[in-house]
Parts: sequence; C-alpha cells; structure tokens
Amino acid sequence: MLSITKCPTCGSDKIKKVRRKWTGKFQGQTYSVPRLEFHECPACGEKVYDREAMRKIEAHSPALAKARAS
Ligand SMILES: [Zn+2]
Repeated sequence: MLSITKCPTCGSDKIKKVRRKWTGKFQGQTYSVPRLEFHECPACGEKVYDREAMRKIEAHSPALAKARAS
C-alpha cells in the first residue's frame, strides 16, 4: 500500500486519505467514481491516486466505455 505523508506539490504534511465520490472530466464529459479512496491536500488541493484508485478511475472512464462499445 502506498503511504503518502507529504504533499508532492506543496510539501504540506496535512495531506490525508479521503474516501468519497470523485468526479472527473474526459473530453468535456463528466464522470464520477463512487467511494473512491485517494489522498487530498487541504493546503493546495492536490490529489494523489494510488494504483487501485487509478484502476477504478479508468474503469469508470468514458474513454474506456467508448472503447468497449466500438
Ligand atoms: Zn499540497
């Protein structure tokens, strides 16, 4: 498991793991991932995703859905 104790962008140690609905955009299309776990820095808003989070985001991505449909 990836352990993040410092924000890679601003260096704040306030970065923490959160679990909530995540919303992203792909080519103007909004999509969301329910109950996604990722690290968020309250100081600068940076979000850090581990491998599992990336996998979930990719699974919900319209890019992938489109690839599956065609
Ligand atoms: Zn930060």
